[in-house]
Amino acid sequence: MFEHVHTSDPRELRSLRGEIRAFLAEELARGAFKPAPNSWMIHDREFSKRCAAAGFVGMILPTAFGGRGRTIVERHVVFEELLAAGAPVAAHWIADRQSAPQILRHGSEELKQRVLPRIAAGDCTFAIGMSEPDVGSDLASVKTRAEASDGGWRLYGTKLWTSNAQRADYMVALCRTGAPEPNRHSNLTQFLVDLRRPGVSVRPIQNINGDEDFCEVHFDGYHVPDSEVLGKPGDGWALVMRELVAERSGPDRFLSTYPVLARALAGSHPVPLRAAAEIGRLVVNLGALQAMSLSVATAAQSGHSPEIEAIIVKDAGTTFEQELPAVVRKALGIRPGRSTGDDLRDLLGTALLYAPSFSLRGGTREIIRGIIARAVISQ
Ligand SMILES: Cc1cc2nc3c(=O)[nH]c(=O)nc-3n(C[C@H](O)[C@H](O)[C@H](O)COP(=O)(O)OP(=O)(O)OC[C@H]3O[C@@H](n4cnc5c(N)ncnc54)[C@H](O)[C@@H]3O)c2cc1C
Repeated sequence: MFEHVHTSDPRELRSLRGEIRAFLAEELARGAFKPAPNSWMIHDREFSKRCAAAGFVGMILPTAFGGRGRTIVERHVVFEELLAAGAPVAAHWIADRQSAPQILRHGSEELKQRVLPRIAAGDCTFAIGMSEPDVGSDLASVKTRAEASDGGWRLYGTKLWTSNAQRADYMVALCRTGAPEPNRHSNLTQFLVDLRRPGVSVRPIQNINGDEDFCEVHFDGYHVPDSEVLGKPGDGWALVMRELVAERSGPDRFLSTYPVLARALAGSHPVPLRAAAEIGRLVVNLGALQAMSLSVATAAQSGHSPEIEAIIVKDAGTTFEQELPAVVRKALGIRPGRSTGDDLRDLLGTALLYAPSFSLRGGTREIIRGIIARAVISQ
């Protein structure tokens, strides 16, 4: 699917890319999905289960937990192809991208045995519980609190903008487990929350597209047993920073609108000669972003946690995926639409409405650039 970028994969990656392309071509041929922008927000549990059965979910999890024992770079290639195809991967995306590695690193043995095989089977959906009302950019100021109680903890407070929480089985929630201290990063802890148990309620919120893809999640004494705490109580900030590297640097930060470009290049609307340079620029930028994102995956595979490199990919990548539909629209002179029967017009209509959110989710552009600037200055 990702044929507009001239990847030069080593042989073993080339054959894996061929396998995932064959899987996707088969799914497309039988009408299992229609390529869509922002497809990592589109939830289809049956698709995720088939994807897992074919070996493309839980790839980096050990085989002892139902995974495939493959590398981060191999998983990266599969992520690229799934997103480039515009496949509906939301039902396994968050779990596969960040929650499963987090549980593998910091979860109790009991938790790993119970949850990881379900994730590897594509049958376990996760949500990210970081943002709250008045707490987004300044994550260290989270107010949702956890109080020690009954051999575990009880949670009180509200999380906001939690993607697909109404469809999720679990959330990893960052909570305050002690009074704020001068070091604002202390006294924070990550908890696994089973969204089907009592003490937690979820209210979907409609976005500008008319979809309900994020939620408000309210805790009213939800009980977390000690076995469902991630890491040591109080160590949550370090855990969340590591998780954000996985969240910010992958192909989902530059491929959200790629199906628009793929469709434009498929030829239903001719590209005027005067517009060729603009489209060519998109393809060149895509190649550069792919190389940058892959280099973060390669560093992570070698055991590093390249936080600054990850957010540079997020900044450049989200700028690219945000601009892409506007560039295609102008270059081809097309009017975006909704349900017009013209695939490119419909893809453009959806992509343009989603695009503003790309530089907000996962940390806003201003915050990301501030972190990059501070890192450069302190060097
Ligand atoms: C589509 C979508 C999905 C999301 N999914 C999730 C999810 O699953 N889980 C989750 O936890 N969160 C999620 N979020 C929330 C997202 O992480 C926050 O919206 C984001 O971190 C910004 O926080 P905020 O909305 O509170 O804005 P604020 O922090 O209030 O910021 C408002 C504006 O002020 C600017 N600003 C704030 N502080 C500074 C500063 N110090 N310097 C310069 N400018 C500043 C910001 O850049 C922004 O433009 C999602 C958001 C979106 C749009």
